[in-house]
Amino acid sequence: MIQALGASAGIAIGKAFVLPNWEWELPDQKIDVADLAKEFDRLYEGVRRSKSEIAQMKSELDEAVGAQESSIFDAHIAILEDPVFMNEIQGIIQRQYKAAEVAVKEAIDHFVTMFDLLDDEYMKERAVDIKDVGNRLLKHLLGVPEIDLPEDTQPFVLVVRELTPSQLIHLRPELVLGIVTMVGSPTSHAAIMARAFGIPLVMGVESKLEAPIVTGDLLIADGGTGQLYIEPDPETVELYVGRRQQYLAQQEQLRSLVALPSVTMDGVPLQLGANISSVKELEASLESGAEGVGLFRTEFLYMDRSHFPSEEEQFEVYRAAAERLNGKPLVVRTLDIGGDKQLDYYEMPEEDNPFLGYRAIRFSLHRKDLFKIQLRAILRAAAYGDVQIMYPLIASVEEVREANGVLEEAKRELAAEGIAYRADVPTGIMIEVPAAVAVADLLAEEVSFFSIGTNDLVQFTLAVDRMNENIGHLYEPFHPAVIRMLAQAAEAANRRGISVSVCGELAGDVRALPLLLGLGITVLSLSAQAILPVKECLLRTRAADCRALVQQVLACRTAAEVRGVLEAFHAETESRNWQVQPRA
Ligand code: PEP
Ligand code: MG
Repeated sequence: MIQALGASAGIAIGKAFVLPNWEWELPDQKIDVADLAKEFDRLYEGVRRSKSEIAQMKSELDEAVGAQESSIFDAHIAILEDPVFMNEIQGIIQRQYKAAEVAVKEAIDHFVTMFDLLDDEYMKERAVDIKDVGNRLLKHLLGVPEIDLPEDTQPFVLVVRELTPSQLIHLRPELVLGIVTMVGSPTSHAAIMARAFGIPLVMGVESKLEAPIVTGDLLIADGGTGQLYIEPDPETVELYVGRRQQYLAQQEQLRSLVALPSVTMDGVPLQLGANISSVKELEASLESGAEGVGLFRTEFLYMDRSHFPSEEEQFEVYRAAAERLNGKPLVVRTLDIGGDKQLDYYEMPEEDNPFLGYRAIRFSLHRKDLFKIQLRAILRAAAYGDVQIMYPLIASVEEVREANGVLEEAKRELAAEGIAYRADVPTGIMIEVPAAVAVADLLAEEVSFFSIGTNDLVQFTLAVDRMNENIGHLYEPFHPAVIRMLAQAAEAANRRGISVSVCGELAGDVRALPLLLGLGITVLSLSAQAILPVKECLLRTRAADCRALVQQVLACRTAAEVRGVLEAFHAETESRNWQVQPRA
């Protein structure tokens, strides 16, 4: 068994289809000076064809999974229009008299090597995009056909070195049981798409393989655990056939909870909202019974394109989400860019500590022009539903006041221009910096709600970089310091009578559920897959027991003790049958 990275849940059992790496046969003779113009024409024709092909794929994907995912291809078109990339190719043709395909290959290698050297996951992903686009261009110059699967192909487990979005769209999803990649990370575009398609995905197996996988090998890929079996014995196959059935049955069983109200056994409601980063994801969340959106991460609207989205573009997206939610809340978090989330088209300053640097609300308050465009779009969309505004990474009262100042300015402008908007949009903040917890009582006087972002709160409370795998064992959401932070923030909100939610990954951890309930959290915002498992647990939980549990947890001195108490409580909950409470 190989233990790799689980990037999209589900179990695939089937024969491997190994996608060959393209082997280019490039011409080695130089071109004649007299033929230079012809060579440029070939290059431009290849670029034109590549662009129209990408546009075609984009519109197909648009229909299949939505505009957010398909905007990946905008980034591909942007590469073909990028003067730096194109100048590199043209320079090689013009100065070295090399054929267009040789120039393209050398330019790809140059940029990919450059980006790969950077210790930055985001830039590494850009290298994948350049390879993908460059290979498409090469195919047009060399006339190599797309990989065509034979008509009678049976469903297979795709094995590929590095998955690109265009490979994914070219392979008919109904034939792909699952995907295994040699390299890559679960944050890549292709991984995001695999999750959108619901295809099990295991990534990063290369360094663990003893021998290469070949087409026809029987594989078991578990995208939840990241486990991969090559030519497993019949007992293992039988075991996983059973697990797969169990997984599908569990999914099916959970679906029966969709229509039930989310309340505890003793009738205390807990609103289960969704974390989304695109309108498309909203569909999956609603299918899982989300009662609104507690966190719309808008930065993904700004990534995967070649320019800042206009007010109009943003307005359309927020309005579509508000209308689709039909009166249920939509909490739009303003741009949380910086740190690991960078924009292709906007150069951020070099920083030693980007997570502590120029990002999120700090960026917005520095670029008030861009911030105001976003706020205007949200205010306008608020005329179409229960839209709320949330500022990320707030650390002081001043920041809230300054942000609200820009918000008021945006309202005045819209009013003066006679554009429809909603003036009384509730405004809240993310609690994800320890300073915000320390002054939570003061902040509670300034805003309508808190949403605790445990992903960052754990990182900053414990001074443990959430991306650094060397200290991953120290990233401990159940550390008593974190528990006290949660308690203090919730207490400040409850005292002031404003709502307090949790939208970090901890919200999806069923062991934390009774603690959060006991602390007086009234809303959880979760990824689509986490909603139903949390709801199932909620239906078996008694809110009255949770209040006593909080005292027990707060008395713990170590994370291990906290885990022990929560696990014991959870085991008892699990042993209970759930009961349906009538809707209030
Ligand atoms: C968080 O920090 O908990 C959070 C929800 O925000 P993000 O993961 O986008 O930083
Ligand atoms: Mg955060």
